[in-house]
Order: sequence, then structure tokens, then C-alpha cells
Amino acid sequence: MTLRIGCTADDFTGGTDVAAAFRRSGLRTALVFGVPDDTTVLPVDCDAAVVALKSRSAPADEAVADSLAAQRWLWAKGAAQVYFKYCSTFDSTPRGNIGPVTDALMDAAGASVTLHSPASPPNGRTVYQGHLFVHSQLLSDSPLRHHPLNPMTDSALVRLLSAQTRHRVALIDWATVQRGVEAVREAVVAHQQAGVRHVIADALTDDDLAVLGAAALELPVVAGAAGLAEGLGHAYPAAQPAAAESVPHGGRAAVLAGSCSARTLEQIAKFYAAGLPCLHLDVLAAATGRDVAGEALAWYDEQDPKLPVLVYASASPEELAAVQAQLGVAEAAAQVEELLGTLASHLVERGVRRLLVAGGETSGAVTTALGIRAVLVGEEADPGVPWTYADTKSGGLALMLKSGNFGAPDLFIRALATAVVESE
Ligand code: ADP
Repeated sequence: MTLRIGCTADDFTGGTDVAAAFRRSGLRTALVFGVPDDTTVLPVDCDAAVVALKSRSAPADEAVADSLAAQRWLWAKGAAQVYFKYCSTFDSTPRGNIGPVTDALMDAAGASVTLHSPASPPNGRTVYQGHLFVHSQLLSDSPLRHHPLNPMTDSALVRLLSAQTRHRVALIDWATVQRGVEAVREAVVAHQQAGVRHVIADALTDDDLAVLGAAALELPVVAGAAGLAEGLGHAYPAAQPAAAESVPHGGRAAVLAGSCSARTLEQIAKFYAAGLPCLHLDVLAAATGRDVAGEALAWYDEQDPKLPVLVYASASPEELAAVQAQLGVAEAAAQVEELLGTLASHLVERGVRRLLVAGGETSGAVTTALGIRAVLVGEEADPGVPWTYADTKSGGLALMLKSGNFGAPDLFIRALATAVVESE
């Protein structure tokens, strides 16, 4: 099996997002969690593989080392091109990792020029005259200027990236993009000959990103958000008809929620309101040594096997604050992650074959507990929320890993209602 394109993503949610984008473009796509090694097995017949790292806020040298390790592994699997996926709101601090990681990937590949686009038109991120917009506002006028970790106080991408690299950065403007693939290719070559290493291109629509993707097909390293990845994916002729994934049929369906985000709380409320079985985990009781996981499994065994169940630690802001005040933030999170990881393994052993996990950190805890290193990406239930397919020691598992604020309020019911119908 030979990959056609590889990707390193700078966080887990971004990994899912870009993997879903490659799949939308018609490529069979795998998602790998963390830096892979010789023992990491890819699902068969993939065209694309995304390695999801936690490098966005890591120190630059660590981000570079992990990204290079991922690139070497992707090359070994046959990928001729590597896409570096970063956030569609860029990373505007002068100490950001976008410059250092892109430079390192390019050095290793012997590449002298690359194309960038953080545009993500469906999410309102567009680039015009090199300025990044969030819907109708410049990035620097948007609420992201108050971001607690990376306040975005500049929108000029050439200036932002120049602060992160010693190499030259230049722009291909929208008028050039409008002239099509050849015009963009020629502009990239002209910039390269003038000593520019990083070329940022304007993009207002998905069509613009398709032009950029086609123009970037021969570049060893390409960088940006999920939109350019999709454009690039479309430029690859599909290797095989997009065969349906081997969806596990039968078995039970469950949601494990550890996210306290507003959207997840709404999704839980909808599930509860539909009269489906729900169980709230008592985190404080677990911290005193009570066998909360054992009690939850006993509860699970009594439920109607035809119905999806929801087990959640998710809490309202007040409840969360109370638990954190008593246990400390780190200990509370460790308790929750341990509980949900343990439950995930037992539920899969007991025959759960469709599992929806709510929460970024929670998803990490669950995949680790299940020993899952790589999944095949399937259809999206909502934008950026695909089903994925994994092998576990108990058999095939359909797994949906969702970041806290993703998905429509009825996602849990909709996604798992299908599971119930199909398993009958
Ligand atoms: P999101 O994607 O919404 O950020 P995460 O799973 O990444 O969700 O983060 C939620 C965090 O909240 C996790 O670290 C989890 O352990 C913690 N958490 C969830 N429920 C509780 C609770 N009842 N008390 C304390 N911490 C909790």
C-alpha cells in the first residue's frame, strides 16, 4: 500500500478537520494519533494519512521534532507530498510555530518554495490582499484579538509569517488567482526565482482553493488550513472509487461525554429530552475511591440493548467550578479521563460497536485506553465531525471523536439513531 499524500496537523481537532477535508475530496484517508512509529499500522488502501500532533502550543523545537518524525514516517509509507495543517486563524505571535515547522519540513524535503493559505471560506476565514478576515472583520478587529493565549492583533499574513522565519515571504493576490492554475504556478516560480520561500495566496472561495491546490500539486511541502488541503485533494485523480467503509453492523451504541462546552451540554440535554438512557458520573465520589465505573457498567447492563446510552461527566460551569475547587483542575480532569477511558474499554468489550466521544482531551483519553493508534475516516455526520473506523481487540468499532463545540444540538440522537436502526 502506498500513500499519495501525507499530512501533519498541529492539534487533534485540526487533524480530524483536515482528514475530513481530504476524504471530501475523494481520497481514502486515515487519521493517526500522535507521532507514529514502526508499530503503527495504517488501515488498508489509504490515499492520504493525517498525523494529528499536539504541536500548536508546544515549544518550537518540540513542534519541529515531532513534525519531522511524522514527515519521515509518511515518506516511508510512500507519501510524495506533505501538507502542514495549521489553524485557519493563523498563529499570530512572533514566536509561533508555523514558520519554524514549515521551514524544517521544507529543509528536510529539499524544497525551496511553498504555498500557504489559512483560508477556510465555509467558516468565514478568507484572505484578501494578504489580510486574514474572520467573516466581515479583519482578524485583528475580530473577537480573536482577545484570545487568552494568542491575541491576534495583526491581520497581515506576510508580516505575521515574516516574523516567524528568516526567509522571504510574499503574496499572490486574488487577481492572479482569478486567472487560474497556470497563472498561479507561474507566479510561484517567479517568486521562487526572486528568492522568496513562502508564498501566501489570497482566497475567497472554495473555487479559489481548488485553483491553488492544483497549482501546488508538485510542491513537496504545502501549508495551510483544511480548505487548501481539500483543494489539493481534488487535484489528485481518485485512486479508486470511494468504496464504502466497512461499517460494523450490529452491536450496541453509546456516547461518552467529558466536554463541558456549551454545545456538548445542549447535545446531552437533547438526548435526555428524547427519553434515551443517560447516566451522570459523580466525579467527586470517584475521587473518594467509590467504584463509579463499576456502578456505571451495572447500570449499562440493565438498559435496553436496542437503545443508545449516554454516560457523561460533563458539567455546567457552576458544577465544574465546584468540582475543580475541591479537587484542583488537573486532578479533576485526571479523574474524568481515567473514568471515561476505563468505561470505553469495558463498553467495547461488552459489545458496543458505535461509540461517540465528546471532548478533545476526552477523545485522547478514550483512544489511548482502547489502544487505537489509527482510524479510517468515514462520512461526516456534521461538518468536521466524521465517523471513523478502527480495529480493537474486541472487533471493528465505529468511532466518532468530536471536539466540544462541534456538531448540531441533535448530533448524538441523529448519529446513533442510525446505529440503532442499522443494528436491528
Ligand atoms: P472540549 O473539547 O470541550 O474542550 P475536553 O474533553 O477537551 O472538551 O475538555 C474537557 C475537560 O473537562 C476534560 O479535561 C475533562 O476531564 C474535564 N471535565 C469534564 N467533566 C468534568 C467534571 N465533572 N469535573 C471536572 N472536570 C471535568
